[in-house]
Amino acid sequence: MTAVIDPTCALAAVSGADLRVPLVQGGTSTYANFDYAASAPALRQVTDRISQLLPYYASVHRGAGYASRISTECYEASRGSVARFLDADDDQVVVFTRNTTDSLNLLAGCVPGETVVLDIEHHANFLPWTRNGRRVVRAAATLEETIQRIVAELCSRPAALLAVTGASNVTGEVLPLERLAHIAHLCGARILVDAAQLAPHRRISLRESGIDYLAFSGHKLYAPFGSGVLVGRRDWLDAADPYLAGGGAVRNVGVAEAEWAPAPQRHEAGSPNVLGAAAIAAACDALAAIDPEELVAHERALADRLRDGLAAIPGVNPVRIWSDSPDSVGIVAFTVDGYTPGHVAAYLSAEHAIGLRDGRFCAHPLLTSLGLDAALRASIGLGTTPADIDRLITALTTLVTTGP
Ligand code: PLP
Repeated sequence: MTAVIDPTCALAAVSGADLRVPLVQGGTSTYANFDYAASAPALRQVTDRISQLLPYYASVHRGAGYASRISTECYEASRGSVARFLDADDDQVVVFTRNTTDSLNLLAGCVPGETVVLDIEHHANFLPWTRNGRRVVRAAATLEETIQRIVAELCSRPAALLAVTGASNVTGEVLPLERLAHIAHLCGARILVDAAQLAPHRRISLRESGIDYLAFSGHKLYAPFGSGVLVGRRDWLDAADPYLAGGGAVRNVGVAEAEWAPAPQRHEAGSPNVLGAAAIAAACDALAAIDPEELVAHERALADRLRDGLAAIPGVNPVRIWSDSPDSVGIVAFTVDGYTPGHVAAYLSAEHAIGLRDGRFCAHPLLTSLGLDAALRASIGLGTTPADIDRLITALTTLVTTGP
C-alpha cells in the first residue's frame, strides 16, 4: 500500500522545518530552505529509527553480545531496504560508504578499463575516473546531439564504463538512463549512475533500467551526513583489491598475505557507520512508501511554480544545459542581471531568511562551457511549500525592482 503526498504531512515529517533565522533588519523569520540539493533535512522516520537503534549502539560483526547482534541485524537489514528501494538485481550488492564521492572513488578502483564521462558532471563523478583512463565527451547544445556524441565515443574504441549523472546538480535536467544503459551495453560497456540528485526525487528500478552501478548520499536523501551507498554488480567489486585495507574486509590474514572477503565486506574495512546505514535505510523505506507518480506530480507542480515565477521577473535568466531536455527534477539555476550570484544569495539570506546556493556547484567544466563565472541555484524537496516559492519570487522581484 503506497501513501500519497500530503504536503502538510510531508512538511511535518521534515525536522528543522520550523527553524527561525535572525534578519539583518532585526527580528526573526521562519527559514525558507531552497538548498535541498546540497543537503536535505532528515525525515522524522529517519530520526525515529536512529533513536530506536541508539541504545543498541555497538560494533557489527564483532561479538555475540546482545547489542552487537541487534546492531549487526539492523546493519545487514539496511542493505535490504536500499536494495528494495532501488529494485536491485540479485547479483547487485549494496556497499555502505561515506557519501557519493566515496562510492565513486571506490568504484573507480574496480573498473577494468576506461570510463566515458560528460563534461557536465559534478566533480565527484568526473575526477575519480582519471584512474584507469577518462574520456570526456563535451555536451552539445541539445540532449539528443549529446547522446549521439556518447554513442560515437563508445563506438570509437572499447570502454569499460559510461559514468553519468541521473540529474544535473546545477540545472536538474534528467538524463534518459534506460536509453543510455542500452547504448552502453550495446557497446560492451557498463553504466554507472551518480544518483545523488535523482534518488531524492525519482524512484529508480535498477532491474528495469539496466543500470549496473548506482551511488547516492544519505544527506541528500533526508538522512544525516556520513553515509552513502554504492550498489552494483558483484564481479568487478569482488575482483578488485579493497578500497581500504583493514579489519572486516578479510577472511583470513597471514603475516605475508591476506585473503580478502567478497563484497560488500571487502570494501567496508574498519568499524562501519551503523547509524548512518540505518538512517539511509529509514529514508529509503519512507520514500518507498510514497506513490512515485504522486511524488513527481507534487514536485513538478512546485518546480513549475518556481520556474514560471522566475520567468516573470525582468532580468532573471534561467540557466539550462540543453534546449530540448524533456524532464527535470526540482533544481533550478538562474542569474540576475546587474547582481553577482553571491550578492543575491547574501541579500536573500540576510533580508528574507531564504537559503539557496550560489557559486560553481562543484561543476566547473559545466559552468565554463555555459560561459558563467557563477550562478544561483534554488532546489526544492519534501518540505517545500507553494508559500516558500512565492516568498522567494517576491523577494527577488523586490531586489530587481527596488534594489537591495
Ligand atoms: N554527485 C552529485 C550530482 C552531487 O550533486 C553531489 C553533491 O552535491 C555529489 C555527487 C557529491 O556528493 P557528496 O558530497 O555527498 O559525496
